[in-house]
Amino acid sequence: MGSIRLENVEKWFGDLQVIKGIDLEIDDGEFVIFVGPSGCGKSTLLRMISGLEETSRGRILLDGDDVTDRLPSERGLSMVFQSYALYPHMDVRDNMGFSLKTAGSPKKEIAEKVGRAAEILRLDDYLDRRPKALSGGQRQRVAIGRAIVREPKGFLFDEPLSNLDAALRVEMRFEIARLHETLGTTMIYVTHDQVEAMTLADRIVVLKDGRIMQVGTPRDLYEKPDNLFVAQFIGSPK
Ligand code: ADP
Ligand code: MG
Repeated sequence: MGSIRLENVEKWFGDLQVIKGIDLEIDDGEFVIFVGPSGCGKSTLLRMISGLEETSRGRILLDGDDVTDRLPSERGLSMVFQSYALYPHMDVRDNMGFSLKTAGSPKKEIAEKVGRAAEILRLDDYLDRRPKALSGGQRQRVAIGRAIVREPKGFLFDEPLSNLDAALRVEMRFEIARLHETLGTTMIYVTHDQVEAMTLADRIVVLKDGRIMQVGTPRDLYEKPDNLFVAQFIGSPK
């Protein structure tokens, strides 16, 4: 299970309001993408859902439970960070198993979960390598593997591909689509890349200045934009 509901969610940094009355319902298993220009609040909203950022007003519900005041570790969601957040001195196996180890999981269970994630991500042959001996795509897959082993109710991605070159970005886009097909887990994915949004999403949430401009399928937004902002943003990939 992994349904997520935002009720009139707001975020203030001091006097500055960056998230303004957001209502949103995400179904279990949905792939939802937040898009919008730089500074519109995508990362802040994602971090509020993960629990890394406090919610100033409103409520966040996971499978119907109010988690607004719960710690990230109590929410059952996994944030996927960019690949440069890997531990350089640990091999792939230990990078992927680290969070389970610190949570005190038995060795056998860690090995099984890491093995399964490695299989899904086709990293079986690289478990003994350190990050510096991997390609950019493999490193990003390890970063995703670290989230998979925790068997989250939902994955949260914040521009995971933004530091990769164009060819690798396309490869990883397919990889993430495949992952969603394989696991069927809820995913929220932040990007400012319209092509990524149009190709990956079940539904796209277009944000501007901390507000939702429109929510819909890629096709809805493309064919029936509610306003000029959405039309321009979706219609003109940079
Ligand atoms: P995006 O991810 O869409 O580029 P962010 O969520 O990072 O946007 O930022 C939204 C707004 O909130 C920006 O104006 C940013 O400067 C501001 N902001 C983000 N984090 C902080 C913070 N810790 N303190 C003050 N302002 C912040
Ligand atoms: Mg951001």
